[in-house]
Amino acid sequence: MLNFLYQHFHTIVYIWIGLAIIVFPIALKVTAPYGRHTKKISLMLPAKWGWVLMELPSPLIFSYFVFTGENSLFSVVGVFFLLFNLHYVHRTFIWPFMMRGKGKEMPLLIAISALGFNIMNGTVNGYFLGYLAEYSQAWITDPRFLIGLGLFLLGAFINIWHDYHLISLRKDGSTGYKIPNGGLFRYVSSPNLFGEIIEWTGWALMTWSMPTLSFAIWTWANLLPRALDHHRWYNSYFKEYPKERKAVIPFVL
Ligand code: NDP
Repeated sequence: MLNFLYQHFHTIVYIWIGLAIIVFPIALKVTAPYGRHTKKISLMLPAKWGWVLMELPSPLIFSYFVFTGENSLFSVVGVFFLLFNLHYVHRTFIWPFMMRGKGKEMPLLIAISALGFNIMNGTVNGYFLGYLAEYSQAWITDPRFLIGLGLFLLGAFINIWHDYHLISLRKDGSTGYKIPNGGLFRYVSSPNLFGEIIEWTGWALMTWSMPTLSFAIWTWANLLPRALDHHRWYNSYFKEYPKERKAVIPFVL
């Protein structure tokens, strides 16, 4: 496996990016059937366990490659290791258990396809950072690192704050949907997805490589279409939905 990755890593990364570029227009046409768009397209499983199952490979595989690789954790790579895992520990083990919506399910097929994505993403990012990356200590004063880190932290904050704001809408025990207000919901329907897009764009900037850029490209390709789907859904579900609100990028889209 390591030998295969060593020999073909750059080809794999370019194919992986090419796939994201193919998936993007498809995702614009086909709504992913989970969350509010759920359809029974296969066996179903409890939504929170679906999230745990599909996200788990990312921190595990990423950490495996970084731990077994030649790069020390007491270097810039250690900073990237920490940031990636902070995101994924929260996404895999905390957020799914904070979600409200008793009895919600997701199609097993969605969990499996996301599992595939996370296996590849964990491999591409982990193998690069563990085995191939060469950052000097001076990298932490480079503007790309500093601006990227700032974007990553800002994006993570926006993502988490709005994810928990959505969770708070069901604190009365309801399982349905309400019009969210407050924070960046004033401007867009999916500020949580906007935050995630900023976060991984920052990741690409601070790590400055094709393998890590692939994660940002996939995030744009997955989340722009999903945010547009959410926005259309809000507008058809709530007659009184604020007309001036954009889908995902304030004042733009
Ligand atoms: P949503 O905003 O659709 O849903 C998040 C949670 O809030 C769900 O529990 C949902 O319930 C609930 N919710 C949403 N809207 C309302 C509302 N109006 N009223 C009450 N409850 C509401 O998020 P996604 O499912 O699209 O994504 C979840 C997270 O995963 C986000 O942080 C996103 O950034 C991340 N993600 C990242 C991807 C990547 O490629 N990096 C890919 C996909 C997601 P319910 O489940 O019942 O709809």
